[in-house]
Parts: sequence; C-alpha cells; structure tokens
Amino acid sequence: MNIVLFGPPGVGKGTQGLKLAHEFNIIHLAMGDLLRAAVAEKTELGLKAKAFMDAGKLVTDELVIGMIEARIVAADAVHGFLLDGFPRNVAQAAALDEMLHEHGLKIEHIVLMDASKEALLQRLAGRLTCSACGFGFHRHYSPPKIEGQCDKCGGSLYQRADDTEEVILQRLEVYAEQTAPLLEFYGQNEAFCKVNAEAGLDEVYTSLLAAVKG
Ligand code: AMP
Repeated sequence: MNIVLFGPPGVGKGTQGLKLAHEFNIIHLAMGDLLRAAVAEKTELGLKAKAFMDAGKLVTDELVIGMIEARIVAADAVHGFLLDGFPRNVAQAAALDEMLHEHGLKIEHIVLMDASKEALLQRLAGRLTCSACGFGFHRHYSPPKIEGQCDKCGGSLYQRADDTEEVILQRLEVYAEQTAPLLEFYGQNEAFCKVNAEAGLDEVYTSLLAAVKG
C-alpha cells in the first residue's frame, strides 16, 4: 500500500506516520528526516538544504524530488511506502504523479491531517524528538518517562533547531502559501480524505486507520 500523509507542521504526521507504516509493513519516508540526516552527514545535498531548513523555507524542488524517487524505487519499498512531508507544493505533487506513473505505481490513500493554528503552535513549541529513532514526545502532552530520554530506545531527546517561535511562524506561513494548495490538487482525487488531528494521539490514530482501511 502507498500512502501520502500531508498537513501543517506540528499536526503529528511523523508520530502517526511511523505507527501507520509499521502497521502496514511499509516504509516511512519522512522528507524532513531524510534532509536532517543529509545535513548531519554534511553531504553536498545536506549543505545545500541547511540554510533553507534553518530559515523555515522549502528546500528546492529538484533536491527533494530526486531524493524521494531514489527511495521509492529502493528494494526496501517493495511492500509500499508512506510519504510524510512530501509533496509540499503542487510542482512536487505533479512530479510525484509522473514518477509513480513511470514506475507503474499508484497512491491508494492521500490523507490530509488538519488542526487549528493554536493547536499547532502549542504542539510545536513543546516538541521533543529522539535523536536515535525519531520518535516524538511533548514536554507537557506526552512527556518521556525519564527526562531527556526516549521511552522506546533510550536515545537522547532534542528540540529541533527549527522549532523556535520565529521559524515555526515562518513554517506555518510557508504551509499556508505553498502546501495548502495541494487541497485543490488532490481534493477531487478518489484516494483523498481528511482527518481531524486535534484529538489525542490514540483517537487520531483510530481515525487514520479508518481512513486507510475504509
Ligand atoms: P519537517 O520535518 O517535515 O517539518 O521538515 C523540516 C524542513 O525540511 C522543512 O521546513 C523544509 O525546510 C524541509 N522540507 C521537508 N520536506 C520538504 C519538501 N517536500 N520540500 C521542500 N522542503 C522540505
């Protein structure tokens, strides 16, 4: 099964995407994680991407499109993939359609996760991420059992460099301007559905499962 999960920053795509991908035995391709890994490894691509990411802007389409295509056709994607954070604008969505067509693949579910700006700001400001497995926590809503340590793997937790108030606001603006138009692009597609992501983690997961099974 192939799934596209999209929605504003802080809506829970990473946390829920990991769980869904695990449930269906498909690979979780989080564009932000792939880019952060490239930045940490100081690859040529990572060096090019860093300034955009630090500023809360989108990395150029040619960089991200090439990265996604390589992962989609990789051997570990045989059972399918869940795209989290890609596509993030209409040009990327069109490029995705084209590459899927070329490889004889299709998307079974396109899911928009949505929440109010207030909820997103609260979530982003307290967000903590595991540096080893990428699992997400929140200082107040879902704190780790031991401060600074991941419940799942024991890795150390960090606050993302782009989770500062100024960059968060910029990312929400970029979402409204460049990613929200995907609603029009995908709105008429029979694979499209929308899930309210303002409830608690378990409730949102149940809605997502219903959306992709139904
Ligand atoms: P995320 O972890 O999904 O919040 O992404 C973090 C940052 O990575 C974004 O603010 C962008 O700078 C960059 N990024 C992630 N996905 C994309 C994409 N599809 N296109 C361009 N830039 C992206």
